[in-house]
Amino acid sequence: MTSLKSEIHETIIIGSGPAGYTAAIYASRASLNPVMITGHEPGGQLTTTTDVENFPGFPEGVTGPQLMEDMKKQAVRFGTTLMSTHVKNVNLKTSPFELELENGEKIKSKTIIISTGASAKYLGLANEKELIGKGVSACATCDGFFYRDKKVYVVGGGDTALEEAMFLTKFANYVGVIHRRDTLRASKAMQTKAIDNPKIEFIWNTEVRELLFDQTGLTGLKLFNNQKNEEFDVVTNGFFYGIGHTPNTSFLNNQLELKKTGYIQTIDGGPKTSIPGVFACGDVQDDYYRQAITAAGSGCQAAIACERYLEE
Ligand code: NDP
Repeated sequence: MTSLKSEIHETIIIGSGPAGYTAAIYASRASLNPVMITGHEPGGQLTTTTDVENFPGFPEGVTGPQLMEDMKKQAVRFGTTLMSTHVKNVNLKTSPFELELENGEKIKSKTIIISTGASAKYLGLANEKELIGKGVSACATCDGFFYRDKKVYVVGGGDTALEEAMFLTKFANYVGVIHRRDTLRASKAMQTKAIDNPKIEFIWNTEVRELLFDQTGLTGLKLFNNQKNEEFDVVTNGFFYGIGHTPNTSFLNNQLELKKTGYIQTIDGGPKTSIPGVFACGDVQDDYYRQAITAAGSGCQAAIACERYLEE
């Protein structure tokens, strides 16, 4: 790993999803010599999807891992230094800011761009991680298209689950929403839309016990009705998680203002945060759009804002 501890950097980018790499491309082209801490999941959430068909510029689509690999090459080509490590702590009260890496090493920077994203919550079932991209997904917008005229299931009873379910009805001919209780947490407006949708069926008081699969991927789900104390199986090749996301902000130790939902509070919809010189982009500050292209756009904004801040 490169040792960069003696320098005071112009900018350090934390996180390596579309927001981070876009910020890196812009910051390196602006001669800020950015250092990117890639984190434990280099490439971010897109590396867990298969084909990405809605990122402009790829008429035939591109795989998530390929897209991230290309963004990485583009950032490196312009001079971004990558460090494959993880930030344990930050001190945003000092100037320059100080970051402590997982090996205890400390690095300093005049500015920080936070693009650590959000992680979809999973149920923790056996073989869950192996089946991601093979029938299991936490992103209907990314993977829904592959389920035209199929029967799919979504777990969760909040706005995310119902939004995913509704999106999936554009493709699938049946969407079963599996919820562990008999009342939804989602907003009333969303509930009405979902309940009125003839393609959606609610499977109440039901928990997912097991993922059934063969060598081709997911083949079904073992469910458990917690009122009737009954287990039953359903056949499906598509299972979507809608039980929420967790923004990756724990390393900040509450030094930045967060929204009620735990996402970073930015100012006026731009990349500035409650601390001058600290910028946020991508899903770590966006609990609404959560798309690769919106993350990339906000990464560009963060780099430009950072460059202007340094000039001032
Ligand atoms: P929520 O926390 O609101 O809902 C999570 C849902 O998943 C709940 O129904 C919960 O069940 C269920 N759940 C959680 N853990 C498990 C588990 N281990 N097993 C089974 N079920 C589980 O998260 P959302 O992501 O839906 O929403 C987060 C915020 O974002 C909300 O404020 C929401 O309004 C907002 N949002 C708004 C949207 C919009 O306006 N278009 C779209 C998406 C989100 P239970 O109810 O029993 O706790």
